[in-house]
Amino acid sequence: MTEILLGTEIRAVEETASGVAIETVTDKGSEPVEGAWLAGCDGLRSVVRRAVKLPTAVAGAGLKAWRAVLPASAVPSAFDMREVTVWLGPKAHLVLYPVRKGREANVVIIGDDRVAGPADVAERWAAPARELIAATPTWTPWTLHDRSPDARLKRGRIALLGDAAHAALPSLAQGAAFAIEDAVVLARLVAEGGPAPFDAYQEARSCGWRNSR
Ligand SMILES: Cc1cc2nc3c(=O)[nH]c(=O)nc-3n(C[C@H](O)[C@H](O)[C@H](O)COP(=O)(O)OP(=O)(O)OC[C@H]3O[C@@H](n4cnc5c(N)ncnc54)[C@H](O)[C@@H]3O)c2cc1C
Repeated sequence: MTEILLGTEIRAVEETASGVAIETVTDKGSEPVEGAWLAGCDGLRSVVRRAVKLPTAVAGAGLKAWRAVLPASAVPSAFDMREVTVWLGPKAHLVLYPVRKGREANVVIIGDDRVAGPADVAERWAAPARELIAATPTWTPWTLHDRSPDARLKRGRIALLGDAAHAALPSLAQGAAFAIEDAVVLARLVAEGGPAPFDAYQEARSCGWRNSR
């Protein structure tokens, strides 16, 4: 049976002789949970990663993402709202794509984190991009961090997936795809019932990285 515990934070993880012990915290207090295995997919600042004894530090990438959602009617006509648009500029780029069945546009600008905002990033861009930026009233800034990938993705009965295992900057536009692929591969290996599914998972997903195995 699968049970989903919402609003539950993992505070600590420890491998035991027979499985994995987790300390969880909810607004009602803390509670221990035990299981046979743990698949840790808790993102860039993963708590599970500590139990796998891999470096947890993240480094500033020197980049910031500014994100906004705006009505499709506010998007300049130079942008085709049926498509994903990638606008490349010096040391920065803009991605625009339709959401909510084309009623709104999601816009992300990624550029140098030392500049004040999208208008400064796009100072020398052509008119359509500058018009789009001027038509966007509110941007949410998001400082980007990075970490070198590790060849080791598991320790004992604990495996890491997604950004917890191998964070990728959005300029690659693949981090979520990696996480989904990890989940598909791990689920298949566990279902196949082989003797060491986590070892097989690491072999399949470490993609030739050699730095910390
Ligand atoms: C601006 C931007 C644009 C991007 N664009 C793309 C793109 O176009 N294509 C693409 O493939 N990827 C993209 N990415 C990357 C993508 O968002 C990530 O790689 C992906 O979300 C990683 O998924 P994840 O499940 O591993 O981690 P996350 O999405 O970070 O999910 C981790 C989850 O764990 C929870 N959590 C964290 N700590 C704990 C804890 N202690 N206890 C319990 N729960 C916890 C968090 O609340 C969160 O729900 C982009 C990222 C950014 C910032």
